[in-house]
Amino acid sequence: MKGYVNIPGSIYCRLCRECGARPIIARVSDIGYVVKCSNNDNHYQTMPGLIDIEDWNNHNTITAAPIDFNIKSRLAW
Ligand SMILES: [Zn+2]
Repeated sequence: MKGYVNIPGSIYCRLCRECGARPIIARVSDIGYVVKCSNNDNHYQTMPGLIDIEDWNNHNTITAAPIDFNIKSRLAW
């Protein structure tokens, strides 16, 4: 495990859904990189490999709420 790389401010990335921290890029031995919460390893982190900020963004968004609502109302009918 080497050090961490901070994601440049020019790159769009969402904050951790659980604690609001800006994510960091961490190297995982020879496998590759993960994008993860800078505060807590138990918060979401991407699969080791390429730096996948898009995946991080997908898992740290709240836009799923309206979709959940639609599913619920369909189930209610
Ligand atoms: Zn976090």
